[in-house]
Amino acid sequence: MPYRVKELFSTLQGEGMNVGRAAVFCRFSGCNLWTGREQHRSAAVCGFCDTDFVGTDGPGGGVYSSADELATAACGAWSDATGEPPVNDTNASQRGRPLVVCTGGEPLLQLDAELVAAFGEVGFEVAVETNGTIPVPEGVDWVCVSPKAHSEVVVRVGDELKLVYPQQGAEPERFTGAEWCFDHYLLQPMDGPDRHANTVAAVEYCRRHPAGVSASRPTR
Ligand code: SF4
Repeated sequence: MPYRVKELFSTLQGEGMNVGRAAVFCRFSGCNLWTGREQHRSAAVCGFCDTDFVGTDGPGGGVYSSADELATAACGAWSDATGEPPVNDTNASQRGRPLVVCTGGEPLLQLDAELVAAFGEVGFEVAVETNGTIPVPEGVDWVCVSPKAHSEVVVRVGDELKLVYPQQGAEPERFTGAEWCFDHYLLQPMDGPDRHANTVAAVEYCRRHPAGVSASRPTR
């Protein structure tokens, strides 16, 4: 299937447990919780987005006609930054392995098992950053869910749950209990004019909950 990509570029992961890790970011076009157009923001399920995911006109963006074509382009982005193609050396430390981060928009509107396999065949570990409303295809190596209030989160197992904080209707306690199973639980202060106050609130929440939101999470 064709894949619509807003931008494809090499950088360092700036968030979550993989922070600082070299990665190719594949930002897919489109989201199921907002059109990306300002005139629709007030009616959107997700109202605080600060990402431009409309269209395919960003650096490295375009309509890729096949999984192999997109994987090859990701390879090129990695090679341009590092001087060598991605090689998934399982003897290397995890942080040193080539990583492609599938983000958006909502990447799971487009990321399928065929593309995950194609990324893997050219040497990438595959990470996804999702709002959690669409099931994850087979083969993804790292699942990061960032839940949004007023949405139904169906991806309840993964590597990290990264909650933008605060969100009325998406309090951290909502994501506790036996059906929620993540290795890492993170709060990320909401950006915007209240960023400082949100940062203080996130720090305070963590101070008051030194063991996390649940002291006895199931293992997976
Ligand atoms: S779910 Fe993510 S990509 Fe979609 S509108 Fe919200 S923050 Fe933006």
